[in-house]
Amino acid sequence: MKNSQELFLLETLETMFDVPTYLYLIDGKKLFYKNSLDEEYTKTGYNSELNSEITKESVYNFVKGYFAYSIRWNGPPTFNSAGYLNKKDLESIVSEIREEINVSKKEGLSTANHFTEYLESQSLDPKPTGDNKYLWQANCPFSKGKHFMIISTETNTFGCGWCKKKGDEKDLKKYLKK
Ligand SMILES: [Zn+2]
Repeated sequence: MKNSQELFLLETLETMFDVPTYLYLIDGKKLFYKNSLDEEYTKTGYNSELNSEITKESVYNFVKGYFAYSIRWNGPPTFNSAGYLNKKDLESIVSEIREEINVSKKEGLSTANHFTEYLESQSLDPKPTGDNKYLWQANCPFSKGKHFMIISTETNTFGCGWCKKKGDEKDLKKYLKK
């Protein structure tokens, strides 16, 4: 990362462990972070690039895209110190993301069907993830509910990446009746 141009964006605290996270825009394009200032940069896992000039608006929207992606694993970020973006920016990013997630969860509820009703009847607590309207999650019965499995209300299928199980409604009924 030598000779690269860095723009310090802001410092947040990771929700779970309260670890400080310093977010940088590198070479005007990619997001990297550090957990302490003397550390090397780490890729964020967010693969989009900023493909326009650095302005308050373009950086705001780019960082919003990043947090919309990371919020699923890390939860909403907490502000710790300002760089190119400040506390007000982060608060408004988080509230816009929350609003968008709520809208798409509501859209998701409109795809409830016989499969989600069946999951409900088995107390697996199905709910839309908010990623797209056909994507739901439910407690994974193969692990006795230790994690979620993914449900598609478009194809009426389920899949659990941890348990390596997938199938359709019939398969699940067969398993649960054992
Ligand atoms: Zn599982």
